Amino acid sequence: MRHFRIFAAGLIGTVLLAAPVEMARATDKWQGAYCSLQELAAQKGLDFFWDPIARNATVSGPLGFARFHAGSEYFLSEGKLDRLPDKVYFSGDNLLAPPAVAGPLDRLSRPLKVVIDAGHGGRDFGAITRASREKKITLEIARDVAEELKQRGVRVFLTRDSDRFIELSDRASFAGEKGADLFVSIHANASTTPGLEGFEVYYLSPETNDYFLANIRSEKRIPEEGKTLLAEAARETKAVYWDLRQADNRAKSMRMAGQVVDGTRKLIERGSIRVRPAQFYVLKWTECPAVLVEVGYLTNRREEKKLGHSVYQKKLAKSIAEGLINYKKNEEKMEGRLV
Ligand SMILES: [Zn+2]
Repeated sequence: MRHFRIFAAGLIGTVLLAAPVEMARATDKWQGAYCSLQELAAQKGLDFFWDPIARNATVSGPLGFARFHAGSEYFLSEGKLDRLPDKVYFSGDNLLAPPAVAGPLDRLSRPLKVVIDAGHGGRDFGAITRASREKKITLEIARDVAEELKQRGVRVFLTRDSDRFIELSDRASFAGEKGADLFVSIHANASTTPGLEGFEVYYLSPETNDYFLANIRSEKRIPEEGKTLLAEAARETKAVYWDLRQADNRAKSMRMAGQVVDGTRKLIERGSIRVRPAQFYVLKWTECPAVLVEVGYLTNRREEKKLGHSVYQKKLAKSIAEGLINYKKNEEKMEGRLV
């Protein structure tokens, strides 16, 4: 991170050489029109960090960060160098910015949108054991994850908030309709081996690609959302487009799966946590990065008992939510490194 700051400062510095720094420029001229960057960030619920050595101010929110440099109109946002109509400068203890800075800050403060999908429902019970129904446990945990995320300022949409049946295609297209940034499907596992236990997170397997493309090329049924997306392009182009987008989403989904798993390490024994590629329908047809979480095995007595308890469900939900937030924060850092 330190490395990056120095690099970013160097980058902005280079730009500054072309346009000489005017730190002591007549502040009176701009008094009133300028606003305190720190105060504006606070108003918008964003974090403000000042690095006195690099003379950089970083404003960050759920969707990314913007980095300003005292004495420059240039700033970094979403991995790109952008420009304000006037310079940002220091006055007293305040870093002052022209009012136009509100635009880039608004883009950072748009809340993160997450779709939580409670697996199964209605006539689809999912895994059934003597004491448990998967559809009930997935709904309870999905609601808890939603609650945890809401407390962290995330906008959450549940594919279902009651015991009702939903088609897989409708679950995937729901995420597109809501403009979701992330999609998380909650399930509970079952096995014929009673000893098997563990928490698993799945992301889309790369091997699905050929099957995927073959499906599009052969005009097999694809979900409504996919149809709309692909409606106007030629068949071959459609397939390439879908493939490119999936490749990007797959990389992100893999990292998201890793963060969700990391989030649960304090709750679940190391040996019982796994990250795996898979070909689940909802992972294939969701437009945004997506993971499917198997919270545990209902066929394992010990795990079934834990999963039925609301205290454990809440702990698990909290870990999943933390993993998602950490994923998002990590992506922001990565965007920064790419500059
Ligand atoms: Zn399931």
